[in-house]
Amino acid sequence: MPSFRAPRGTRDLLPEVRVGLSRLESIARSLSVRYGYREIETPLFEQTAVFERGIGEVTDVVEKELFRIAPRTEESESWALRPEATAGVVRAYIQAGMHTWPQPVKLMLTGPMFRYDRPQAGRYRQFWQWNCEAIGDPGPAVDAEMIELGWRFYAEAGLTDVQVLLNSIGDAACRPAYLATLVAYFRGHEDELPELERRRLETNPLRLLDSKDPAMKALVAAAPKISAGLCEACESHFAAVRAHLDALGVAYRISPTLVRGLDYYARTAFEYYRQGAEGQQQALGGGGRYDGLVESLGGRPTPGIGFALGLDRVLLALAETGVAPQREAPPLAVIVGADPADTVARLRVASLLRAEGLAVRAELAPRKLSRQLETASRDHAHFAVIIGDELADGHVQLKDLDAGTQRLVPLAELAHELTRAAASHHHG
Ligand code: AMP
Repeated sequence: MPSFRAPRGTRDLLPEVRVGLSRLESIARSLSVRYGYREIETPLFEQTAVFERGIGEVTDVVEKELFRIAPRTEESESWALRPEATAGVVRAYIQAGMHTWPQPVKLMLTGPMFRYDRPQAGRYRQFWQWNCEAIGDPGPAVDAEMIELGWRFYAEAGLTDVQVLLNSIGDAACRPAYLATLVAYFRGHEDELPELERRRLETNPLRLLDSKDPAMKALVAAAPKISAGLCEACESHFAAVRAHLDALGVAYRISPTLVRGLDYYARTAFEYYRQGAEGQQQALGGGGRYDGLVESLGGRPTPGIGFALGLDRVLLALAETGVAPQREAPPLAVIVGADPADTVARLRVASLLRAEGLAVRAELAPRKLSRQLETASRDHAHFAVIIGDELADGHVQLKDLDAGTQRLVPLAELAHELTRAAASHHHG
């Protein structure tokens, strides 16, 4: 027999890990309600062109990391698994005619993303993100609202040392002149550029600023900064974003080399890092304003801003900080029986309680009662419901496993009794 394993770069989220992810998802949902983001789902795959146009053909994500789906027939469309959510959400915005809805349209999504990345710590081929998009508002206030939203997410998740790195990357009015200055600067150092960066200088020069190559560090530090070349409109937009963040008490740091290397990105760019981890190239999350994206996917000119927060990295960070992991809730009660063979009675009582909304387990192994009770304690259940001869006149024994006490309860009142007892348990 072959021994099968999860594909390289993926992992099973076993229940004790999945419960942590569920907790993050529920914090994200709760925050989305509070901040007015409505949940949407888009397909896990799209036409490849959605990503090529929506993310850009000269990005790593599309050039090297796209999970392409092998076509079944020659005339099949070309599809790819989504490497991020924004392109699909914006495609949906256009397709559903959301420009006729009250603007901005604020959407959120959590789910798996796929990138054919080289697997390493904190870098998987399937990973989970929480995504928020506010489409149809030019900002600056919504920029700050969104940055604060992400920051609050980390705080509520239990990471209190997260800071925001912030930059403005200008817009179509001022970026071309800056790019010319930047290209001229790097041309002057062309023989010092690693091969990859020399190529990028031709295709996507802004990307040189966030190069991962250590050989680029000094060159980047001395490169001209876009902050010096912002036009008046971008300058005042940036100032207003900062003023709003100050008023909200969000801790941020200006990072002049933080860029998003695509034409449709404009103005606000931000990333979240744990303090002290900025140098490690492992952002917890990031986002930015994409005022040209709707148009480049075929919609009318519409401003937008969004973020993508990686949830796997939050789980890793939480594990590092030693925050006690989320525990799965034990069953409230385990249903056991004096007659080991009478699984029908145990299942019937369990079914009745489950219909009332209670989490219970029926012990279905035909063991002696004493052994069944041991499994109830092993489960950390608060109660055991013991089915015996009393069932004939509609009663069962309710045993409090912590207190060791036991009393006869009419079956008709069992759900109510359990609920009440559970409440008093929780309140000591
Ligand atoms: P990006 O779209 O590359 O800015 O990614 C946004 C966030 O998603 C990052 O800050 C990470 O937290 C997370 N992320 C991106 N790629 C991966 C990956 N391969 N594995 C795990 N998390 C990732």
